[in-house]
Amino acid sequence: MDDLSGFIFMLLIVFIIGLFIVSFIKKALTNIRNEQKRKDSYEEERLKRIAQAALEQKERERLRKVAYETYFDDKEFINKNTTRLEDFIINDRMNQYDLEKLARLNGIQLEILGGWTDLVLALMVELSENGWKGKVASIKEKYAELRFYAIFPKEFNNPEHDAIYEEIMENYKLKSLETCEVCGEHGGMVYSGGWQQTLCEKHSDHPVFSEYIIPFGKK
Ligand SMILES: [Zn+2]
Repeated sequence: MDDLSGFIFMLLIVFIIGLFIVSFIKKALTNIRNEQKRKDSYEEERLKRIAQAALEQKERERLRKVAYETYFDDKEFINKNTTRLEDFIINDRMNQYDLEKLARLNGIQLEILGGWTDLVLALMVELSENGWKGKVASIKEKYAELRFYAIFPKEFNNPEHDAIYEEIMENYKLKSLETCEVCGEHGGMVYSGGWQQTLCEKHSDHPVFSEYIIPFGKK
């Protein structure tokens, strides 16, 4: 092999190696670009999903708000147009919705089932006859009893009046212990799964805690 063909051979080798290197770099660059594209589209998809979820959440909140605000629209009750607690009307014509309205105006949730509604309404009338104006901190069931934490105007903050309140409450606690919290029929205390509750025979083995909670006062 003479010098010239040796040189051409070398040149050819260098050229081939060069081709390899160029194609390798090209491939590597393409890979990097594809990877970036994949990442970008994944990120785009992720952001789209987040935006969609936020939109759905907002819509759910809107519907909940509408349901809350229009809840009383088709209901008939004497406090339908009452917007302030100081204007709340307490008498023996109140119904379940008055109780729900009372809870809202007090900013509390009713933590009792529907079977005790009449009991609570009667209690409200009796408390009202003793100076109560509708302010209440909590209405709930505890240890199978009715708890109604009424707040009286200042002028009734004295031991004599406290005793009257205690007596009224004791009476209604006892009544609640004989009233099925689900249906209002005669009942007794039932123990179930660590819970105590006052229930009638029919409801004594019913899973009351999910199904029968009155869906009101909820925002
Ligand atoms: Zn019952």
